[in-house]
Amino acid sequence: MLKDLINQFYLDRHKDRKKTRFYITDAGKCRRSVFFKFKNAPKEEIEARILRLFDHGDYIHMLIMKSLFSARGIHVVASEVDIPPKTIIGGRADAIISDGKELYVVDIKSMNSMVFRKLEEPKPENIDQLQLYLHFFKIKKGILLYVSKDTQDLKEFIIDYDNVRAKRLLQELSELKVKIDADTIPSRLVDWPQGWQCRYCQYREICHMTGEKPIKWEKFKKRIQTEKA
Ligand code: SF4
Repeated sequence: MLKDLINQFYLDRHKDRKKTRFYITDAGKCRRSVFFKFKNAPKEEIEARILRLFDHGDYIHMLIMKSLFSARGIHVVASEVDIPPKTIIGGRADAIISDGKELYVVDIKSMNSMVFRKLEEPKPENIDQLQLYLHFFKIKKGILLYVSKDTQDLKEFIIDYDNVRAKRLLQELSELKVKIDADTIPSRLVDWPQGWQCRYCQYREICHMTGEKPIKWEKFKKRIQTEKA
């Protein structure tokens, strides 16, 4: 009884709301999957179990923040900080800290111990997100703090602000917005279908139907409505 109720709670909470702007986590992501998200395209449902794992990640963030608030040698300037309001992008950094000399944006990432063990350098998509936080907060340094969910081990990487990378990411998002407004589905990733983004993508089925090249969304939408009817 409880199992079903809890599963339903997670599934209800995760029901899609209409996406109207980019989020920092869209930076560097497959443009086609972000497009599909904006259009509320049909996708595979995430299991309630996986949604609970996401929740567990949030809990780990809280534990890390608790220790940062009490740690000696640093000072938490702000936590859960929204980036300044922008028209098409939103996001919230985990924390801004100071060591007495410099400010750092901290981004906490939790993962399972298997992935954690193999992690020798920060993930490019995490650097992308951090670069945008640094850009919007006008802070020169950031820290990517990785936490192993199962063992609680930590790894950290200090990242310098890279103006060129941040501006390129913002440019890519602006170009994607043009495609979204023009209803043009972007090309799929060059490493489709083996790339890691494709392996975990909820839009795999319709992406396969779409084909490789850009096509018009309205025309394609009619096709999926007919085929799924
Ligand atoms: S399957 Fe791959 S290329 Fe297609 S939308 Fe998903 S991530 Fe992008």
